[in-house]
Amino acid sequence: MTEQLSMMAIFAHPDDEAFGNGGSLAKYAHEGIDIHLVTATLGEAGQVADPDMISTRTLSVLREQELRCACQQYGDINLHLLGYIDGQTAIVPPSTAVYKIVKLLRLHKPQVVISFGPDGIYGHFDHLVIHRWSSAAIKLAAEPDKWLAAGKPYQVQKFYHRVMSQIQIDMMMEIMGRNFVPMDGSIPFPFVGYSPDQITTTIDVSDFAQVKLDGIRCHSSQLSPDLPYLQDDYDHTSDPMFTQETFILAESHVETELPETDLFAGLR
Ligand SMILES: [Zn+2]
Repeated sequence: MTEQLSMMAIFAHPDDEAFGNGGSLAKYAHEGIDIHLVTATLGEAGQVADPDMISTRTLSVLREQELRCACQQYGDINLHLLGYIDGQTAIVPPSTAVYKIVKLLRLHKPQVVISFGPDGIYGHFDHLVIHRWSSAAIKLAAEPDKWLAAGKPYQVQKFYHRVMSQIQIDMMMEIMGRNFVPMDGSIPFPFVGYSPDQITTTIDVSDFAQVKLDGIRCHSSQLSPDLPYLQDDYDHTSDPMFTQETFILAESHVETELPETDLFAGLR
């Protein structure tokens, strides 16, 4: 097959791509696949590891630099910023945001799209919104009479929800002592974990564990330096976060045998 393969990852915040998919972005970029990363906000409302380090006003500038730094680690990544404000995606008129994504899909024609599933990893409001925007955009991009000014109708072939395996969450509990994200100060939002029989697609990213770590390190304003996996003596090879990335195939227009080990199974 000579068609150029392309993948689009659609996420909410700078760093969403790093923890969940940094390895896959690097692996597929390394294979010469055209990679597009769409990031809806610049993480202006996210937690700051060291509040003295930066004022909120310049936080978005810093987070964009960090995101660009991460993209450079993964390889040749085309970054698209939607320009929304962190924490406020729920009040964006969906038609404007979905239109922007439809336009990107029709222009870049990714066969594979990855985004949040309905769980939003841990139910972050922006993640839930991005799930709805991505799902709607994939559907509308293919409709022959919809938004023709946004480009020619285009059908994405495979749509994946990026999910966490229960194994990853158990490991996190063991290493970090928690299995939730404190939202709005201190409200625990637990990570949603999936069992092996629910996960359709597991990508072995062990060859890209160092690149994934380098990408995560770029998001330094969001990281506490004492995190176990940032220490030099940490064994990344025994942490599933650095060896495999997990997905659920939510929609496919090609034949593929599940479970898969390649997001492009059935396309090459
Ligand atoms: Zn996020």
